[in-house]
This record gives sequence, structure tokens and C-alpha cells, in this order.
Amino acid sequence: MIDYPNSIAKLITELNKLPGIGPKTAQRLAFYILNRPLADVEELAASIKDARIKITHCSHCGNLTDDDPCKICSSGNRDRSIICVVEGPKDVVAIEKAREFKGLYHVLRGVISPIDGIGPDDLTIKELLIRIQSGEVKELIMATNPTVEGEATAMYIAKLSKPLGVKVTRIAHGIPVGGDLEYADEITLARALEGRSEI
Ligand SMILES: [Zn+2]
Repeated sequence: MIDYPNSIAKLITELNKLPGIGPKTAQRLAFYILNRPLADVEELAASIKDARIKITHCSHCGNLTDDDPCKICSSGNRDRSIICVVEGPKDVVAIEKAREFKGLYHVLRGVISPIDGIGPDDLTIKELLIRIQSGEVKELIMATNPTVEGEATAMYIAKLSKPLGVKVTRIAHGIPVGGDLEYADEITLARALEGRSEI
């Protein structure tokens, strides 16, 4: 049996480590890359490295950003009394696209999930409570996904936040149960935010 030359085998191995990329797709991508002009490949390699080096977490909201604080946290046009709590950076992008929300965000970086060994301390809940204690925040909108873990996380945070004198609301169920916020269309998301109710 003839093996691939080492450099191709290594490329396939590395691509195969990416989520959702099986051995066959890794092979296809490797040969696609090999057939691209060198300039394109250099651009791809540089952008991967650049993003990895430059991207950091915003020290205020926990979102991914090139600059700390992020554009949203440092903007003068956002309502600082209201924080939308989401699971990940992709949810911020989805909600921003709906152009309905003018407050700030807090990115949890996941949800509480005992099966996966993820507890409250693995998320940015402590940081959120510190933000609430600063006194500027009046409302928290819990915009975690409508999954069992998302609901449980929303309830857990609501229980800790309410004694701090903040109103806690949950986005309306325009989002299908078990669905993903990041895949919801803009109108559904705008309505879900509008129709939020206190928890
Ligand atoms: Zn931020």
C-alpha cells in the first residue's frame, strides 16, 4: 500500500482534528488546498494564525474581541442598564443582526450541564454577578437556548441575581424548543426579545 507523502498525511491529520471533519472530508479539503494558488493558501494560514493570536475575551462581557473592551461594551450608544445573557459569541452575532436590542451582553461560554461535567464555576456567572453589583444594571434578559440545560442555567442565574435587586426576564418562546438561538431568523429573534417575560 502506498501512503501519502508525509506533508500531505500531516495536513489530513490536522484537518481531521477539526469538529465535524471526518477522514474523507479531511482528505478532500487537503487536496483542495493543494490545488489552490500559493498566495491563497498563505492567506488562509495567516488568517487562522492571526485570529488565534489576536482574539481575546472582553474583560467586561466575555465576548470574543480583537480589542478589550469590545466594540459593544465601549460604545456610547448602548443602554448600560440592560444586559442580555447568552451562551456564546455566535448568539451575540445573531441578536445583533435582529437590530432590536440596544443594551449590553454577557457571554456565559456555555451552559450548566452536569452530564458534561460543566458546573456554574466553569461559566462566567461570577463575573456577571460582579457586573450587577456595580449598580448600573436594572434588567437581565436570559437568552440562553430553550434546551433543558439552557432553561436550568437561566433559572440558576435568576435565583442568584434577583436578590441583588435586578429584574430578570426570559426571552419569549418564538425560538423552537430544543432549537438553537444562532440559527433563528432575525424576525423570530426580535419578537422573542420583545415578548420577554419576568421570571
Ligand atoms: Zn464586551
